[in-house]
Amino acid sequence: MALPMRQITRKIFWRKVLSRCRFSTSCTHFHHDIVRVRFAPSPTGYLHLGSLRTALFNYCQAKTNGGVFILRIEDTDQSRKVEGATESIMKVLDWAGLSPDEGPLVGGEHGPYIQSERKQIYQEATETLLKKGAVYPCFCTENRLNLLRKEAYRRKEIPKYDNKCRDLTTEEIEEKKSQGIPWVVRLRVDDWSRAWDDMVYGHIAINHQEGDPVLMKADGYPTYHFANVVDDHLMKITHVLRGEEWQSSTPKHLVLYQAFGWDPPKFAHLPLILNSNGTKLSKRQGDITVDYFKKKGYSPRVLLNYLTLTGGGFGTSSLTPECFSLDQLVQKFDLKNVTSHSGRLHPQNLEILSRKLLLAKLETKEGQNELVQYTIQLVKDHYRNRSSDEDLAKFIFNEDHIGSLLKWALPERITRPEDLLGEQFIFLWEVPDKTDIATFLQKTGEDSHMFINVGLEIVDTVEQFEAESINAALNKKAKSLKISLKKLMPILRYVLFSTVEGPKVGEIMFALGKEQTVFRLQRALELSDISAV
Ligand code: GLU
Repeated sequence: MALPMRQITRKIFWRKVLSRCRFSTSCTHFHHDIVRVRFAPSPTGYLHLGSLRTALFNYCQAKTNGGVFILRIEDTDQSRKVEGATESIMKVLDWAGLSPDEGPLVGGEHGPYIQSERKQIYQEATETLLKKGAVYPCFCTENRLNLLRKEAYRRKEIPKYDNKCRDLTTEEIEEKKSQGIPWVVRLRVDDWSRAWDDMVYGHIAINHQEGDPVLMKADGYPTYHFANVVDDHLMKITHVLRGEEWQSSTPKHLVLYQAFGWDPPKFAHLPLILNSNGTKLSKRQGDITVDYFKKKGYSPRVLLNYLTLTGGGFGTSSLTPECFSLDQLVQKFDLKNVTSHSGRLHPQNLEILSRKLLLAKLETKEGQNELVQYTIQLVKDHYRNRSSDEDLAKFIFNEDHIGSLLKWALPERITRPEDLLGEQFIFLWEVPDKTDIATFLQKTGEDSHMFINVGLEIVDTVEQFEAESINAALNKKAKSLKISLKKLMPILRYVLFSTVEGPKVGEIMFALGKEQTVFRLQRALELSDISAV
C-alpha cells in the first residue's frame, strides 16, 4: 500500500535531517532512553572464554534494561583477519543463545555491521575531521618510523611519532600525492590527558603521551580506534562494556570523540579472567576457545554460568555454583556488582555445574528423553566405524535403560554423557570377545554352565533389577545351592565384563541392563556348550 504524500515527505525530511547529522558537530548525541550495547569482536581466530564473557555481559546489560544488543564485526585489520572466523563467531553466539538484535545476519537500521563494508563511512568521517583541520596526511615511510623507534630505544625513551607531517603545506601535500607516495591520515593531538568515570573501575585519569595517532591506513582501511569510535557513535551505543585490556585505549577514543564534538558513551571495563593458577588466559592455550568446551559436550548454559563465577555481576558464587538459565542470569545481572579485580576460573566448577544441570534435566520426562537421545547419538557416532556388532545397536536403542544408566551414573560417576565413552565404561558398549570367553570357559570346566544359568535365573526372578537386589539374590541363591561365591562371581563377571575382578556383579548387570545381561549370559552359555563338546 502506498504511503500518503504527507507521510512520505515527513519521512524524507527526517532522513535528510538524520543524514546531515551523521558527522555534524552541532548535532552531538541524541538523547537515548534506550540502552544500546555492542559486542565487537575482531575475526582473528576462534572465540575464547574472555570474549564469550564480554558478549554475555553486553547481552545482559541490554536485556536487563530493555535495550538492544548489537553484534559488530571489527575486521579492519586485514593482516590479522582469519578466514571463517566471522562465521564461527556468529555460530558460537547462536549456540550460546546470545542472539544479537542488530548484526550482520539480522541487519538493523545502523548497518552494515561488518566494518570492512563501511569504508565509505570512515572516508566521510575523515572528510569531516579534515574540514575541521583536525587531521592531516602523513607521508612518512615505514623506514623513517623504524628509525625513530630505534632512536627512541637508544635514548631509553618510549617511541612516539614526531608529528613531522603536521606542518606540510598544501603544495607539498599535493606534490607528494601526485608522486604517488603512500600516505596515512593522522589526528592532531596536543593534549593527551583524559579522565573518565569507569562504571567498574571508578575514576580513571590517564596522561600517556604519544605521537599523533593514525586514523586511516595506507590501504584505505581505518585503524581499530577510529572505526570503533565512529561506529559506536553512529550505532548510538550508550555503554561500552569490554575487556580491561582496552582500558589503555580509552583516552585515544576520548580524544577522538572530542575531535568530532561527540559525547562519548559510558565505559565499563571488565576485569580479566585468569587461569586457576593465576596466569593470564593465552590464545596459545588450546583449552580456552568456546569450541573446545562445546566439543567436549558442555552445554552453553554450563559454560555461561561458569563464566559468571569470576568477576562478579551476577551475585553467583564460586563456592555454591548454580546452573541458571540465561533468562535467570539476565534477571540477576547488575553492572554495579562487577568487581574490579581479576577472577580465576576453577575448572572443577565446570563439572559441578554440568552435573547439576543434567541431574535437574533428568527430573522431567522431556529432559530425560532429550538426554537419552543425546547419549544414544553420542555412542552411535563414537562406535560408528569401530563396532560391527549388531548387538551394540540393539542395546543402545533401549531408551529406558539408558535413562536408568544416566540416573545411576550422574550423581557420582560422571558429569557429562560424554564421560560414558571413557575407559571405565567401555564394557557397556563393547561386547566381550567370543574367543576369549570360549577359552576362559574351557579352563573353568563344566560348572560354568550351571553358574551362568544361576545368573540367568536371577535376572529372570529378581524383583527389582537394581544392583543391591541382584547381589542379594545372587548371594541367597549361591547359599541355597551351596555354591562358593568365590567361584560364581568371577565367572559371571568375566562373561559380562571381560575380567574376573572388578565391580560387584549386581552393579555390572544393572549398568548393562536386563536385555544386554541376558544377551551376554546366553551367548556365554552357547559358548560353554561348544567348548564342552
Ligand atoms: N575489536 C575489539 C576486540 O576484538 C573490540 C574492543 C571494544 O570492544 O572496543 O576486542
